[in-house]
Amino acid sequence: SNRIMLGPLVAAIDQGTSSTRFLVFNAKTAELLSHHQVEIKQSFPKEGWVEEDPKEILQSVYECMDRTCEKLTQLNIDISNIKAVGVTNQRETTLVWDKETGEPLYNAIVWLDLRTQSTVERLINKTPGRNKNHLKHKTGLPISTYFSAVKLRWLMDNVEKVHEAVLSHRAMFGTVDSWLIWCLTGGKKGGVHCTDVTNASRTMLFNIHTMDWDPELCKYFDIPMEILPKVRSSSEIYGLMVSCLGDQSAALVGQMCFKDGQAKNTYGTGCFLLKNVGTKPVMSDHGLLTTVAYKLGRDKPACYALEGSVAIAGAVVRWLKDNLGIIQTSTELEKLAADVGTSYGCYFVPAFSGLYAPYWEPSARGIICGLTQFTNRSHLAFAALEAVCFQTREILDAMNQDSGIHLSQLQVDGGMTSNRLLMQLQADILCIPVVKPSMPETTALGAAMAAGAAEGVSVWSLNPEDLTEVTSEKFEPQINPEENNNNNIIYSTILLPKVLSSAIL
Ligand code: ADP
Repeated sequence: SNRIMLGPLVAAIDQGTSSTRFLVFNAKTAELLSHHQVEIKQSFPKEGWVEEDPKEILQSVYECMDRTCEKLTQLNIDISNIKAVGVTNQRETTLVWDKETGEPLYNAIVWLDLRTQSTVERLINKTPGRNKNHLKHKTGLPISTYFSAVKLRWLMDNVEKVHEAVLSHRAMFGTVDSWLIWCLTGGKKGGVHCTDVTNASRTMLFNIHTMDWDPELCKYFDIPMEILPKVRSSSEIYGLMVSCLGDQSAALVGQMCFKDGQAKNTYGTGCFLLKNVGTKPVMSDHGLLTTVAYKLGRDKPACYALEGSVAIAGAVVRWLKDNLGIIQTSTELEKLAADVGTSYGCYFVPAFSGLYAPYWEPSARGIICGLTQFTNRSHLAFAALEAVCFQTREILDAMNQDSGIHLSQLQVDGGMTSNRLLMQLQADILCIPVVKPSMPETTALGAAMAAGAAEGVSVWSLNPEDLTEVTSEKFEPQINPEENNNNNIIYSTILLPKVLSSAIL
């Protein structure tokens, strides 16, 4: 058969909250050549708990790799041209495994899990002035259920097997990247136990100034440092051609946001707006996180980002599907909402996992209001889409206030951006254009780019001038800003504070 000559290829493992993908790109053109995707089961053993099975996650990676390689072979593309594999992953999700048996000691606790609410309250109570921002000067983060350290603390306190493994020096902690890299590089037979700076910066154990684990932070959470992975840059060879970047960082790289002030918003399970702030960390006065954006090589400087995290975006679609049954598939939502084209005064705050940025209130819960006899499932669907847009608007407002500079357009990506109604609503609600690249897999592209740029691989240059022009689609705001502002005021000035105060009551 005729082999197609394409030159070097670069691949990415994209392990997200709702699915795993493996994707192969042409390193010259950034063209996506083939990919495969597998859904990941989530379990909800108790109210507020969200878990995934570490072995299923690993299996899904193998399955996606196998299937993608089969597809490439069918296309007559030689898989030996894959020169580097990058990993990008759901961040914060916490695992502990036994390094001798290779067995996970508990399910992965998913980032939006709320079981650590009382752990967080206990920690805040022992903190001077009960200040949830007590560790922010080192971590860039508020003390919250979201980050890995509290999840790890919970595992050590509540799971006997984890407790014992820690005592007998057999425990390894990691986020999903560490688990996958350890398994893929040999597992119990000498796997590499590492993570990258972007994932480390979401644990609350990592000092974003010194770029290393911080003994004081570890002491605060009472976590032994020996169970932590080694921290590496996001673009270097860890073993068997692998490098890695947290999913939101990878999307920032995939959207080519390398310059100070460039930003992107990713609409997946949650919604994450990140703005590159350059090589010095900037602290937010408006409830945003400061996080490591990337460090693309051992000797390269770290770049930081301001981040607005929204816990529930695509997850609300899954909820409408799985819990209410008003749609059969997530793609049906668009048509359902478009049938009415309005929420008819119905508002939806999907604070299922508390509220993240800019409030950081774990005890908040969701609310649907403004219902009348007339309200039907289409209005509810529309209100759900609006909720995603309003929450993004809040983040963007906070970001604009923090920097005093107004973003003139928003680059977007993620699974939900295939919903065109959502994109148009978002442009209307932000009053700025929303720009979506035509190749939607930007997270994977970013991870593949970082892997391909690693020293010793070097099939990809991350020089902005050398990068291929991306084609994109632009959604311009279409309705008048005044009408929008009214809606937005109802949502963020009247409704959200109500949700918050009812949470506190
Ligand atoms: P993650 O990286 O968090 O796994 P993805 O970027 O893969 O997420 O996006 C999946 C999410 O997007 C799911 O929560 C799903 O409900 C939502 N989604 C996918 N397609 C649509 C659509 N057409 N309209 C609305 N939501 C969608």
